[in-house]
Amino acid sequence: MAKASPRYDILAAAKGWAAPPASAKVNGETRPTLDVEQIFGESTFGLAEMRARLPKTVFKALMATIEQGTELDPSVTDAVALAMKEWAIEKGATHFTHWFQPLTGYTAEKHDSFITPNAGGGAVVEFSGKELVQGEPDASSFPSGGLRSTFEARGYTAWDPTSPAFIIDAQGDSYLAIPTAFASWAGHALDQKVPLLRSMHALDTQARRALQLFGTPGRRVLATMGPEQEFFLIDQEFYFRRPDLMSTGRTLFGAKPPRGQELDDHYFGSIPDRVLACMIEVERELYRLGVPIKTRHNEVAPGQYEMAPIYENANVSADHQQLTMLTLRNVSRKYGLVCLLHEKPFAGVNGSGKHVNWSFATESANLLEPGDTPHDNLQFLFFCVAIVRAVDRHQDLLRACIAHAGNDHRLGANEAPPAIISIFLGSELTEIFDQIESGAKATASGGGGLLGLGSPVLPKLPKHSGDRNRTSPFAFTGNKFEFRAVGSSQSASFPTTVLNTIAAESIDEMTTALETAIHSGADFEQALADLLSREIAASKRIIFNGDGYSEEWHREAERRGLLNLRTSLDALDRLKDPKNAELFSRYGVLSPEELHSRQEIELEKYFKVINIEGETTQTIARTMILPAAIRYLNDLFAAADRADKLGVDLSGVRTLVEKVSALVNQFSSAVEELVEVNAQMGGEDFESKAYHMRDAVTPAMNVVRSIADQLEKVIPDDLWPLPTYRDMLFVK
Ligand code: ADP
Ligand code: MG
Repeated sequence: MAKASPRYDILAAAKGWAAPPASAKVNGETRPTLDVEQIFGESTFGLAEMRARLPKTVFKALMATIEQGTELDPSVTDAVALAMKEWAIEKGATHFTHWFQPLTGYTAEKHDSFITPNAGGGAVVEFSGKELVQGEPDASSFPSGGLRSTFEARGYTAWDPTSPAFIIDAQGDSYLAIPTAFASWAGHALDQKVPLLRSMHALDTQARRALQLFGTPGRRVLATMGPEQEFFLIDQEFYFRRPDLMSTGRTLFGAKPPRGQELDDHYFGSIPDRVLACMIEVERELYRLGVPIKTRHNEVAPGQYEMAPIYENANVSADHQQLTMLTLRNVSRKYGLVCLLHEKPFAGVNGSGKHVNWSFATESANLLEPGDTPHDNLQFLFFCVAIVRAVDRHQDLLRACIAHAGNDHRLGANEAPPAIISIFLGSELTEIFDQIESGAKATASGGGGLLGLGSPVLPKLPKHSGDRNRTSPFAFTGNKFEFRAVGSSQSASFPTTVLNTIAAESIDEMTTALETAIHSGADFEQALADLLSREIAASKRIIFNGDGYSEEWHREAERRGLLNLRTSLDALDRLKDPKNAELFSRYGVLSPEELHSRQEIELEKYFKVINIEGETTQTIARTMILPAAIRYLNDLFAAADRADKLGVDLSGVRTLVEKVSALVNQFSSAVEELVEVNAQMGGEDFESKAYHMRDAVTPAMNVVRSIADQLEKVIPDDLWPLPTYRDMLFVK
């Protein structure tokens, strides 16, 4: 009897996907070798295209902006627009869009055609410098956190010449996407890019000052970023039968399968064929867009994977990271798969993060790379100590910039990484820090400075130390820091903005301290030794090399006075701290109003996300799970009735009836409670609504879910209305 039940879709899902079109065999032969060099960047208006197509003077002016960050000469924009349009049209583009990143966390675009009607009733394709440089999308539907009322909805997009324009192919047609910043008519940042660019400028300014002291002036310093993206891929047959996945990106129900990730057989295992084919096409698309994807592998949970690029300048990398998420979502659909970017699509198995690897560098040197000479190492130690200091001072900001409803399922919830921000330095570097702290003290009176740390030269610094610690939210990994607490679905921009800004502040203040000491006649090395020693002593509580998951660490962190901001709302509340408004405005990254608007937007998002989850839980409970349970009860009643009539002993069925009806009763009263808190909403402003979601709706949802998960284990397979974890995680 082939009953039409979702359960039988497992077979359809497993068998139903056809060999993918793009990477299919050609005439039965294996696919032609991929010429990566040829396709890399072919869909971008990159340096090679610009050099070939632009007049020399224009190219030079543009390069000065791209490479040195100088202001763009407005007279060149018409020429750039013309070249860009010609290139785009050759690539088949009919439209262009200003591509921007509003505070939704996604990207936005509004397409305009290149066509302008002419007097003779025909049309010409045109694209002016003005259209390239500035656009005016209706801003009223994008979050502004109170920065703009709807009657003054005007928002502007402004071309970011430092991130290359690119072509997006869509169903045989294509369009030109121009990376832009997005701001209100009054100049308030309404997006992710503006503050990121400002923070890169702040870091550049301060790091240059420091480099001057170390005798290497005049070098531009660029923040670099490389995000590792984790995600799940599941068959779309399941996705479309899970209203919770469709509406919220995560499963709101689902009993843990007998087999989860216990066998540790997925991590780095061979990638299933269909998934591999999909990832290859994702990579290929991204290569065309100039995104340097480097690695791919299975992650810890079944159905979970990771892709990571080679790092780039943080602004370009942040754009590329958005393109990566977009491409993963789009290409997976061609393979009958759906890409889940949510931090915790499945309870009971690992969630997904986005490890943001971050450093800063001059054109010739990564400033967080320990050097070969004692001099280089002094400079490295200066910057490294500055970061430790910055993280210690601004634990709250690092926690706040990753705070959103999805990430609460990871941070502080028995999973990587903990909500307490600390730094993993590795044992070798920590030892050197200890030596500097005490050694400099010991030599302070006798002179000798850092280079006299009990050895002829500074101890050799570990290069690319093999140390690894997966439990730390913020780890030094040899020549960069890895911020592991960032959520898989979120933009990498704000975390990077925070890192740049707090680094700029510490570098600024430490540079000033050094300058002051030198002006008052101190020896550079001695002054540096004293400074480092002082700063290490003041911030070393943030260094923790042990197990970040352990209970012991929670107690120890509390003893050390570190913050433990368990939920997003605790963290977002810290954005109100005056020290944060001061920090962002001192470095020109966010005005107090802009910072406030961001907090408002995050509270609003938090409220809306959980509100939708609460409503979805309620609907699924009432319209899918409860009816299935009642159907089952009916079957049981019917069986018991008949048994009575026939005089057969069916005590087993009676036990079941009692068990199931008890669960059903519990379930329906839990659902009624959820319905009630869902209806309340928790007040007028987004803040009180957000707290209502955290403190009333989430717990009520959890109760409903836990009873539903028990029901799932007793209700017959063919009656259960939702694809199960076993289906979704293991059919590949
Ligand atoms: P793992 O974390 O597994 O050791 P890698 O060291 O190869 O892997 O790097 C992980 C990510 O860190 C990659 O995206 C890489 O490009 C990025 N990364 C490496 N060096 C830097 C740097 N100097 N600045 C920013 N990101 C970097
Ligand atoms: Mg890593």
